[in-house]
Amino acid sequence: MQRMNKIAIIGLGLIGSSIAHAVRRGNLAHQVAGHDASADVLARARVLGFCDSLHEGAAEAVRDADVVILCTPVGAYKAIAQVIAPQLKPGAILSDVGSVKSAVIRDVGPFVPKGVHFIPAHPIAGTEFSGPEAGFASLFDGRWTVLTPVRGSDSEAVDRLKSFWAGLGSQVDVMQAGHHDLVLAITSHLPHLIAYNIVGTAHDLEKVTEGEVIKYSASGFRDFTRIAASDPTMWRDVFLNNRDAVLEVLGRFNEDLSQLQRAVRNGDGQTLFDWFTRTRAIRRAIVDIGQDVPSFGRLPFQVYVSPGKKRKAAKKKAKAGTAKKKKPASRKVARRRAR
Ligand code: NAP
Repeated sequence: MQRMNKIAIIGLGLIGSSIAHAVRRGNLAHQVAGHDASADVLARARVLGFCDSLHEGAAEAVRDADVVILCTPVGAYKAIAQVIAPQLKPGAILSDVGSVKSAVIRDVGPFVPKGVHFIPAHPIAGTEFSGPEAGFASLFDGRWTVLTPVRGSDSEAVDRLKSFWAGLGSQVDVMQAGHHDLVLAITSHLPHLIAYNIVGTAHDLEKVTEGEVIKYSASGFRDFTRIAASDPTMWRDVFLNNRDAVLEVLGRFNEDLSQLQRAVRNGDGQTLFDWFTRTRAIRRAIVDIGQDVPSFGRLPFQVYVSPGKKRKAAKKKAKAGTAKKKKPASRKVARRRAR
């Protein structure tokens, strides 16, 4: 990929900061400019040092950028597009990372100036963490990014954006926005809704179970709590902006749940067994194509040790004279710390 002169990132949370880190890693641009609406996030981004310039105004950040990427919750896109549109340079690519695509085209499309290439995108990569500290360069490695070009998109610009995402470590697919929204409704949005629901229900039940839901969380519930810890603003915006597709798959889900409910009530073991065998094969297929590791990236059993306990243990070791000597930081790390 040809090195770009300037990339502008609007919204410096998990995804925005990860893009900035990966651009640095791949040496994909001379300059990474960043903007965030929050003064606190800007200050933290300054300390973390993943942008070359930070701007209090979005319009200022995008000036002269070859690629502009919106990385805020999708509910904020329309207002941002209005503000930055007059500053976008002819020939620039305006893109985003939003988890829904039709609504993004609806909200941003009308503000895109002639000569600017609007190519929405969605990296299917993430964690349950938010904020600038959560980002890391390898977030997109081996994951898929879906581009949903609008009608009449310039194919050369689409190719440029494809190379950009490949440079960030991602595999790239091109899809129609409506199709993307339906696929993601079942693979991502519905699972989040179910997780938010089950964890909410369990929280209500806590009064009945006297804390046992948390204590015995290893048995399945824990995996839901990870998903249900995802950012509330981002997910509120996803459900507000992919309503039709989510309601469509939710209808199908309810029908299937009724079928399972009937099988449980009727003691229909065969239906349950066949169902679970089919779903187990899906899990195996995901692992086989390298989109997850068998253990979910977890060690077989990890005991959480609080930072306080770790400090106490370290003090004890130091007293006993068994503490490991800290290795001096490498020159690269020392330089990063000094920044
Ligand atoms: P995040 O960590 O919460 O970061 C979003 C950042 O945008 C925050 O710093 C937020 O500031 C800032 N922001 C909010 N409104 C803004 C505005 N009007 N102008 C400028 N900055 C603004 O969220 P994220 O996980 O990176 O998600 C960002 C986007 O990526 C979303 O559209 C989401 O759909 C998409 N996405 C997320 C994931 C995932 O797993 N998280 C995966 C793929 C795609 P405040 O915190 O002060 O509000």
